[in-house]
Amino acid sequence: PEPAPTDLNDVLRKTLLFALQHKGGKNIEKRLELQEPLPLVLVDPKQVQQVVLNLILNAIQAMQETGGTLTVASRIAEREGGLWVRVEVADTGPGIPEPIISKIFTPFFTTKAQGTGLGLAICQKLITQHGGTLHVLSTPATGTVFSIDLPMTEVET
Ligand code: ADP
Ligand code: MG
Repeated sequence: PEPAPTDLNDVLRKTLLFALQHKGGKNIEKRLELQEPLPLVLVDPKQVQQVVLNLILNAIQAMQETGGTLTVASRIAEREGGLWVRVEVADTGPGIPEPIISKIFTPFFTTKAQGTGLGLAICQKLITQHGGTLHVLSTPATGTVFSIDLPMTEVET
């Protein structure tokens, strides 16, 4: 990993563009809701990009049949007396049933015929290694929000 002062908004714009060019999602409305300017965070941009791409692909897959809205958002969040840069990937898919939600970060857990079940396990590991957290909030029939919090460190530029 090569941590560098990173504007997560750049990562989000690039990742969304890549996902749309390569992974379709034709009947899906896309929204980018970025707080600008965003303070830089000290992360490996490639690894954060990998995490965000995984979350976007899961969201697109969740809405493949129904269509819906994919929202990628960023903002500063205050938590536990500290400041974090929060990235949210939200979909309006079917949501994750209560009995399943506690298992989704477990390696090899998947509900997909062709799934590896590794995406979220790897996402959580990478974010934890950056001192961050990855949380999920899901409401059946309404949709799912994954939120990444990364610590806001003072970075000299
Ligand atoms: P995979 O995508 O290979 O199944 P993941 O680790 O990425 O593995 O996801 C694990 C499981 O979590 C998925 O199989 C699915 O059941 C559930 N899941 C993840 N993201 C979403 C989402 N946005 N909406 C609904 N279910 C989801
Ligand atoms: Mg996945």
